[in-house]
Amino acid sequence: MQNILLTGGAGYIGSHIAVELINAGYFPVIIDNLANSSEKSVERVGKITGVTPKFYRGDCRDEKLLDKIFVEAQISCVIHLAGLKAVGESVEKPLEYYDNNLNATIALCRSMKKAGVKNFIFSSSATVYNSKNPMPLSEDSVTGGCTNPYGWTKYMIEQILSGVQKANPDWSVTLLRYFNPVGAHKSGLIGENPRGIPNNLMPFITQVATGKREKLNIFGNDYPTKDGTCIRDYIHVLDLAKGHVKAIEYTLNHNGVEVFNLGTGQGYSVLDMVEAFQKANNIKLPYTFAPRRAGDLTECYSTPAKANKILGWKAEETLETMCADSWNWQRQNPNGYEE
Ligand code: NAD
Ligand code: UDP
Repeated sequence: MQNILLTGGAGYIGSHIAVELINAGYFPVIIDNLANSSEKSVERVGKITGVTPKFYRGDCRDEKLLDKIFVEAQISCVIHLAGLKAVGESVEKPLEYYDNNLNATIALCRSMKKAGVKNFIFSSSATVYNSKNPMPLSEDSVTGGCTNPYGWTKYMIEQILSGVQKANPDWSVTLLRYFNPVGAHKSGLIGENPRGIPNNLMPFITQVATGKREKLNIFGNDYPTKDGTCIRDYIHVLDLAKGHVKAIEYTLNHNGVEVFNLGTGQGYSVLDMVEAFQKANNIKLPYTFAPRRAGDLTECYSTPAKANKILGWKAEETLETMCADSWNWQRQNPNGYEE
């Protein structure tokens, strides 16, 4: 059985990847400092699959710990999810974001070099694309011109990894640019667990549905779209996780740097999401229109054609299952992993 190192594997996306890795016959080894997660997610992965990942609590900037992990477990491929990810917070705390996200990546690459591990998959984001690109975004759309430190860390890490691969031609680096992950595992045992007031749309919606928040504020209804609200490419986290299993197969069998969008290619507005959530779950969702949120793009959606063709991967879940599964998780765990 091949071991896959998941940095940040206790988090929202990482815990779902762990389940899909086990389903596909891989064994996940996780390092996470629990800055934005709970070790309970790792236990729950064990509950879902019958296999509990190996867990190291620690920071990816701790190169000595990474060295130890690479000695203790024979790692075939690293999936690097660990990072701070709140856009607004990154504007307030740029040094924390650059330090955490860049130094974790550098320590990881150094340690991989020492251990002779050459396969690297990175959790990048649609935020690396320049805001002036026409839609849909393809992998050769223009990047850069990011509007916040979080986005710049993703952009810079893509550059760092490309440079490392160039200097080490036997490395294989796969950059996965995620669009908007939503949804949860069908069991309702793992899901998104934001601390404090959610920044993202779906966790805010599910907290309105539990009664934790009074109503949803829809940021702007005067955008040049069909209903005036912004358009995004929401993708079910299970589809996203399955994309990583395909990316491992690809990464293990190729050298070089390759970029893939992981999205559905379908754009939905904020009002589409509200309506779909109400319909899928038979819940009334109070909302109000509020001013635009600074920095929001009118639309952002992918063409996933490259991942469809080269990885043989396609998102299969629907808007309805995204809404139903998000609610199933939140309903069963109104306080996330806290009792
Ligand atoms: P998350 O916060 O749930 O997971 C990230 C995990 O990394 C957390 O468990 C956190 O504790 C851990 N972590 C952070 N810094 C660390 C460090 N220095 N050492 C060890 N662990 C550390 O977030 P997520 O939504 O699961 O995102 C996973 C990755 O995907 C992130 O890199 C994120 O930027 C990227 N991404 C997420 C989205 C999204 O909307 N969720 C979109 C695009 C890209
Ligand atoms: N949004 C909203 N109310 C909220 C949170 C988000 O209207 O409480 C909108 C936001 O303005 C954007 C869309 O929902 O148009 C998706 O926002 P999210 O932060 O989830 O993703 P991102 O903008 O980073 O793609």
